[in-house]
Amino acid sequence: MYYSREIRSCKQGIYVLRLMSRKWYIDRINEKNTYNIIYYLYFFLDFYFPRVYTNKKYKERMKGMTKKELAKKASEELKRLYPEAICSLEAEDPFQLLVATRLSAQCTDARVNLVTPALFGKYPTIEAFAQADVHDVEELIHSCGFFRQKAKDIVGMANDVLSRFGGRVPDTIEELTTLPGVGRKTANLIVGDVYGKPAVVADTHLIRISNRLGLVETKDPLKVELALKKLLEPSESNDFCHRAVLHGRALCDARRPLCSDCPLNSFCKFCKEQ
Ligand code: SF4
Repeated sequence: MYYSREIRSCKQGIYVLRLMSRKWYIDRINEKNTYNIIYYLYFFLDFYFPRVYTNKKYKERMKGMTKKELAKKASEELKRLYPEAICSLEAEDPFQLLVATRLSAQCTDARVNLVTPALFGKYPTIEAFAQADVHDVEELIHSCGFFRQKAKDIVGMANDVLSRFGGRVPDTIEELTTLPGVGRKTANLIVGDVYGKPAVVADTHLIRISNRLGLVETKDPLKVELALKKLLEPSESNDFCHRAVLHGRALCDARRPLCSDCPLNSFCKFCKEQ
């Protein structure tokens, strides 16, 4: 539900008035006098009634809506908001995407995109990465953090892709997760973005938004991935994850979500509970 700027200002004004009147109420709650009944009535109208009322409205709206329908609704709304569901990591081939994804662990995509042009310029092929000096790779990726382990994994991945998979980045989660430093999140990204298969990249934004919407009740990445794979349309699952990342950055911030501006607020569980 969108609100115009005037309505938002009005709502903020009402909110300030409610805070002031609540303070007035709290200041007097311990006073023993004959007007206590008025204070209790005030408490009911100001605190209890709005919650019961909004809960009732939410329940009515959600009545009969299954999690699958909720997921469909969220997916459609995110698609309308972010028509282009693109991965923010820049790469020109599957192995480069694998390397960029490995670098993005505990690092921002923007930082990775600053580092990879020089890295891919020096090592343009899997063969070049396989023969690379780990210390030289460490120097090039230093600013991404955990550079020693990441450099070791990148060179190890190149050797494994050449020796075990004939130079082709594998297309299944099971095979991908046998490569050094590749977890389910990276594997899902490759499977979805490179090979166009259904995938759920359970990153921090997706986990937060899925919980807030009420699609899942867990922070465990594997549980979120498996639950969303059941709820989302296979053809939409990969794009849903990219859109959730964009939404997490634009509106659904971890600390200060902008719920009044969010088109998902009419069916979002977190918003209802505020
Ligand atoms: S309504 Fe708020 S909590 Fe829910 S998805 Fe939107 S910004 Fe996030």
